[in-house]
Amino acid sequence: MSSTEQLFFLLREEHLWLFCLLSAVLGAIVGSFLGVVIERLPLMINHRQGEPELSLAFPRSHCSQCQHVLYWWENVPIVSWLVLRGRCSQCQTAIPVRLLWIEVTTALLFCLMAILMPSPERLLSAWILIGFLLALSLIDWWHMLLPDALTQPLLWLGLLINACSGVIKLSDAVYGAVAGYLCLWLLYWLFRGLTGKEGLGYGDFKLLAALGAWLGWQVLPSLCLIAGLSGIVIGGWQAWRAGKQTPLPFGPYLSISGAIIFIFYNSHIYL
Ligand SMILES: [Zn+2]
Repeated sequence: MSSTEQLFFLLREEHLWLFCLLSAVLGAIVGSFLGVVIERLPLMINHRQGEPELSLAFPRSHCSQCQHVLYWWENVPIVSWLVLRGRCSQCQTAIPVRLLWIEVTTALLFCLMAILMPSPERLLSAWILIGFLLALSLIDWWHMLLPDALTQPLLWLGLLINACSGVIKLSDAVYGAVAGYLCLWLLYWLFRGLTGKEGLGYGDFKLLAALGAWLGWQVLPSLCLIAGLSGIVIGGWQAWRAGKQTPLPFGPYLSISGAIIFIFYNSHIYL
């Protein structure tokens, strides 16, 4: 047993609360970074010539109202928001509560994965997958956008992790990526041919290709079924509430169903 595995089992078997706490702290830090990605990536994609330069690192985190650049202690995940009571320390403008929720959700999910995953390799895989899927879901939910900057690395990481770990045969992962892309691509053209409307976006094909690379081609039918059914139920409920048909992002449903299937096949409850 390697020293990483020894540490993993020592923490999980004998100091579970400490293991959960450390995972939650890591989750909150990752969640803080995801908040930046979710806020800035859509702006970077829609960036027009002449507008100020924008990247994930620059300009540094600041108040959108008074441009005050945050001190280090105003940048501590979760804690700073609570200490500042959700307001800028200089001009008292409200800091969006969604940033707090992204940090809290990531912390809780990282903690849950620490309890469920049976080995350090699978825990690391779970954290990577959950981080990407959370960012993709929220960007798609708010902007109807699944950026290539996230779907493509997710696909390559899925292939790489399966090539290294051997949990899923590499050939199954490659077929999963191809089949995931093709089945939604075919559905898109079928739907377009029959109704003249676009029911899906190219980002959806790429996300399902990435999930195919992570989970193998065998799970694609159940993944699409869970995503489709939850999309119909929740989207239908939203349309009923709004009183009209609104465009529905499919990315969050694909992501949730991919995460459920990953947890189902990888957690020690199943193994
Ligand atoms: Zn301010």
